Amino acid sequence: MAVVKADGYGHGALQVATAALEAGAGWVGCAHVTEALALRKAGIEAPMLAWLHTHDTPFDDAIAAGIDLGVSGWDLDAIAASAQRLQAPARIHLKVDTGLGRNGSTMADLPGLLQRASEYQEAGLLRVVGIFSHLAVADEPERPETDMQLAVFDEAIALVEAAGFDLEVRHIANTPGILSRPDSHHELVRLGLGLYGLSPFENETPGSFGLRPAMKLVTRVANVKKVPLNQGVSYGLSYHTTAETYLGLIPLGYADGLPRIATGAPVTINGKSYPVRGRIAMDQCVIDLGPDVDPADFLGVEAVIFGEGGQSVNTWAYAANTINYEVVTRISPRVPRYYI
Ligand code: PLP
Repeated sequence: MAVVKADGYGHGALQVATAALEAGAGWVGCAHVTEALALRKAGIEAPMLAWLHTHDTPFDDAIAAGIDLGVSGWDLDAIAASAQRLQAPARIHLKVDTGLGRNGSTMADLPGLLQRASEYQEAGLLRVVGIFSHLAVADEPERPETDMQLAVFDEAIALVEAAGFDLEVRHIANTPGILSRPDSHHELVRLGLGLYGLSPFENETPGSFGLRPAMKLVTRVANVKKVPLNQGVSYGLSYHTTAETYLGLIPLGYADGLPRIATGAPVTINGKSYPVRGRIAMDQCVIDLGPDVDPADFLGVEAVIFGEGGQSVNTWAYAANTINYEVVTRISPRVPRYYI
């Protein structure tokens, strides 16, 4: 399953889903029904699952569009009511909380959920076609909790099968599970981060798994100027130059998705990295090019924030005290995407 929620982790859900399906993916995964509906509307016909619902979720539209629905508890009744209205059965995947403590039925509540699901299935309102769960610490393979989650998942599967449901798919593996726990794969895996060529492990590069980062964030130097020693830079004047130097203006800021706290992060121009100085503003930030440069070598020249020809997403994530998932996902719609 190609997980393309959050606009394909910032890469473009439609483009990623299309490429993944062409490359052999069998399923598309979204958090919200509205994300899945947008893909259906754009012509994606593959099996699709959406798993995070509110009381406003358009279940009628989801069932009409043939979108499978994750079910954690209350949503079972709402989905059955929609199916009743539409006179069409919903396809559902029961979500079990095997230890993450987020969405999904607890093991204690599962028998009751199965009982209700069984009644709805007999009434022709739904079909339970899947069971799934989500891993909490698979990105830290040395931790024991993944073993515990997989064992609880096995128990849940046994309960669902004993209740007479004929499951098409069982799924629990995310990218770190896929890469480090072959025993977690079952019939279906939900690949998010890895689809975008990034590594979920702190100490493993994408290359060590044969992955290549898909996103390159690039702009052009918008201005270059010589400034004296002790020139304050950007809002708050939190940085002052330590010598005469040339400053380069980068026309990307936090409204574009650069983390505001990533002061000091590197921007690469012609293979050389230059640090962001001072605060990152809404639309722009400033880099220090050094004292002995020719402005003509920089003005209008390509500046790579991260990706091919520049630093890794992880370098920016580290500077912002966050993870690569967050950095790519937050690149805003203002930044045009080009697919090459
Ligand atoms: N499955 C679910 C339920 C998720 O919420 C996510 C993303 O967080 C994924 C799969 C994909 O995870 P990853 O990006 O680590 O592959």
